[in-house]
Amino acid sequence: MIACDRCEDWFHGDCIGMDKYTGENLVQKYICPNCSDGERHVTRYKKMCSLEGCVRPARIYDPREPSIFCSEEHCQTWWEQLIATLPRTKGTNQFDFLTQEEFMGLLDTPQRRSGEKGAAWRLGDKPFGVSDDFWETVDLKKALTAEERSILDTSAAERYALGEEIVLCKKMLQLIDMALKRREAAIAAGKGTAKDLCGYDVRLDTVGVSHQFGAFLQSSAGEAIFKAGRLDAPLPLPPTNPDGNAAENNTDPFTAGMCLKKKCKPHVGWSAIMIKSAKHSIKELAAQAREKLAAEARVRDSAAGRFRRKRVENNSVVVYDSDPAMEDAE
Ligand SMILES: [Zn+2]
Ligand SMILES: [Zn+2]
Ligand SMILES: [Zn+2]
Ligand SMILES: [Zn+2]
Repeated sequence: MIACDRCEDWFHGDCIGMDKYTGENLVQKYICPNCSDGERHVTRYKKMCSLEGCVRPARIYDPREPSIFCSEEHCQTWWEQLIATLPRTKGTNQFDFLTQEEFMGLLDTPQRRSGEKGAAWRLGDKPFGVSDDFWETVDLKKALTAEERSILDTSAAERYALGEEIVLCKKMLQLIDMALKRREAAIAAGKGTAKDLCGYDVRLDTVGVSHQFGAFLQSSAGEAIFKAGRLDAPLPLPPTNPDGNAAENNTDPFTAGMCLKKKCKPHVGWSAIMIKSAKHSIKELAAQAREKLAAEARVRDSAAGRFRRKRVENNSVVVYDSDPAMEDAE
């Protein structure tokens, strides 16, 4: 018997053509033929499980974990049936379809969500995601192919080199700053005016050329300058002058090595130009390093996803050293 939601009359299933199972399980709200207007007032049925052939109601109203399936089991079966429709390996139209392997990488497997035993698969928050401590606990030789290890090692070395270049650029900025401070000191000592004095220092010549600047840093003059944090620490080199007519043997401690020309054309705007260029380089280098880091993370994430799936599927792990091609361990 089922009650009409409007008139509250009771009806035999047989009389209204409704079987017992439907009446007990699938009806959300029953409206009897007398009360039904065919539009607003009609019988509403519960959403059924999305697994084909299943006639149980879906648990969409379950407050804990709403689902379009009747059960975790049917959710799992649904995903498995979907995966089974995908090719196991890349065919000729290799970019048209994901393989089963690739697709499973997009799923968040129950094993990953710790503490949720028996939970079903669903799409992951991030493809190939792994738990935070995965890389601390896993055997790298098992989780990464030889090729992946080589890619990661190379990339890390390249990032290290980029980091060293960034350090060089920062030292360039320091040297420019020292030159500016010394120029100010020279002006304070009456060697020129803030408006006119060029102040370019001959030891800025290698700034902007990484390998030459690196060599300068390792020279005794460069080492002394950076140890003292000031340009007049060691004996300055004889000044080079763009038009060649200046004091070759300037030994004035305030200005040795410094261009003393007034309104010097060849060095016009030297500090602003050099600072801008060094800062730009730092930005570029940092962006390159970030890109490499992101690419490394993608390699690691996909490897981790694959490793985890293999362990789940086979309860064993394929060691890729012997065979770098990804073969099914069957
Ligand atoms: Zn009724
Ligand atoms: Zn009846
Ligand atoms: Zn079901
Ligand atoms: Zn100059």
